[in-house]
Amino acid sequence: MKAQILYKPDKIEALPLKFENIPIPEPVDDEVLVKVEYCGVCRTDLHLVEGEIVPPSYPVIPGHQIIGKVEKMGAKVKKWKKGDKVGIPWFYSSCGKCKYCLSGKENLCESAKFTGFHVNGGFAEYVIAKENSLYHFPSKYKGGSGAPLLCGGVIGYRSLKFTETEEGDILGLYGFGASAHIVLQIALWKKVRVFVFTRSPHHQKLAQELGAEWVGHPTSSPPEKMDAAIIFAPAGELIPSALKNLNRGGRLILAGIYMTPTPPIEYSLLYEERIVRSVANSTSQDVKELLEIAQKMEIRTVTQLYPLEKANEALLDLKRSAIQASAVLEIG
Ligand SMILES: [Zn+2]
Ligand SMILES: [Zn+2]
Repeated sequence: MKAQILYKPDKIEALPLKFENIPIPEPVDDEVLVKVEYCGVCRTDLHLVEGEIVPPSYPVIPGHQIIGKVEKMGAKVKKWKKGDKVGIPWFYSSCGKCKYCLSGKENLCESAKFTGFHVNGGFAEYVIAKENSLYHFPSKYKGGSGAPLLCGGVIGYRSLKFTETEEGDILGLYGFGASAHIVLQIALWKKVRVFVFTRSPHHQKLAQELGAEWVGHPTSSPPEKMDAAIIFAPAGELIPSALKNLNRGGRLILAGIYMTPTPPIEYSLLYEERIVRSVANSTSQDVKELLEIAQKMEIRTVTQLYPLEKANEALLDLKRSAIQASAVLEIG
């Protein structure tokens, strides 16, 4: 099979992914072989390829927003059959025994493993996954349009759950990339009112088109106080300004894996039971719930397709912010 293999990390300008032919892996026990159709390209893949995050071993095949079809099963696989349409997200497995795993918080397991990092990912024609790391994927998302659901979508959905917003509440979104884009649509579907804070005029326009009630600059004051907000931008200085815009008891959720230091926060901004909470990865329950919602409603994504052999170029475009959409490799 053809695959994009990372032997040694390097600046993406040096095109570190090597496009090679390797044997198709054989699934054993509870493993499933999936024929990859599409795989999203994410900033985490760029961090891996450039060596900012270091996997337990090289070589490794990146890619963790995988859509494909079940091709072959190990002898112990019970849940899947050949031809099932499946998605494989970033979260791959956890120990199953620690207090986090036993309480449905396997995203916090200290032995958690991730797709395209601890195990080979979807920048390849085939990928192996454990039967519990696969999810039924709604077939109505054509042409790779569903790939962004599997990373930014899931994180955004978990963040949205933490906002505890209900019909009629006001939710603020700081930053308007792929994840916020999906959250906005789900929030509106739940009849939550949405304000979007973003610097980019392009994103402001897009947020309005998708139904945001108000859009403005990240430091501006919205017309009403909000019940909750999610910060997607990795900018710690947004924390105090978002808190200023929250109602009493408001929830502020930090969706990023990385954030610059926050400036000092006056206690009056936190008082009246305001909550600041970060989000780390996601659970299998989050993935299931999001894909169920994606089946019930139509989530619009903006994607740009690249062939598998152009994985380095897709990551390079991502680094240079040369794409206004989510990059997706078209494989099968
Ligand atoms: Zn990702
Ligand atoms: Zn665990």
